[in-house]
Amino acid sequence: MKESRRFEVVGFDIDETFTPSISWQMMTKGMGASVDELIRLYEALKQGKMSLTAAQDALIRVWQASGNARKSFLTKLFMRHQIYPDSLPTVQYLQKKGYRVVIISGGVDLYVKTIARRLGVADSFPNTKLLWEGDNLIGMEYELDQAGKKLRQFKAYLKRVGGSRDKSVFVGDSSNDRAVMEYTGHGVLVKTPAYEAEMEKVAWKVVDRVGELRKIL
Ligand SMILES: [Mg+2]
Repeated sequence: MKESRRFEVVGFDIDETFTPSISWQMMTKGMGASVDELIRLYEALKQGKMSLTAAQDALIRVWQASGNARKSFLTKLFMRHQIYPDSLPTVQYLQKKGYRVVIISGGVDLYVKTIARRLGVADSFPNTKLLWEGDNLIGMEYELDQAGKKLRQFKAYLKRVGGSRDKSVFVGDSSNDRAVMEYTGHGVLVKTPAYEAEMEKVAWKVVDRVGELRKIL
């Protein structure tokens, strides 16, 4: 009798897992807008000093003021954004071995879709929907509870593909990956620059780079 596969689904975060940076900061800087302003708005939102609508609108204005809040500009930015050299070979290795690979990111939809396509991953879920008027960025729908959203998206994905939590692995680096990692019981923590020691408590394995997954899966 053929032994059944230990794992079937491998989920991934993007920022600081597949790439060396945080996409919100990278895209803000790439547009030539202020990262300090981005951080200030995020902190104000998190601390309840600003409503979600006000923070979203303010960030859109910060981006628009750069003159580069355009789909064409951002697509090019995301196409040339640095991905770690072992990211694509790792995804290809997993797909070749028959794992279903899915990406669940706290980034914006255009970014997540572009990076997923570059990595050859068909299934990807973003945190934020960007709103366009032609080529111009005019709004966004962001969700502050990134961890909760990632978990909901992962559960919905498993339901869609008939996967089970026990046969799933989730690879990530920060607190917004925590809920999914705990849910699967098989979280792989990538020790990145922003690595949070707290996360080791919920990790099943700890790696320095995603390429090490070859030794695990
Ligand atoms: Mg991350």
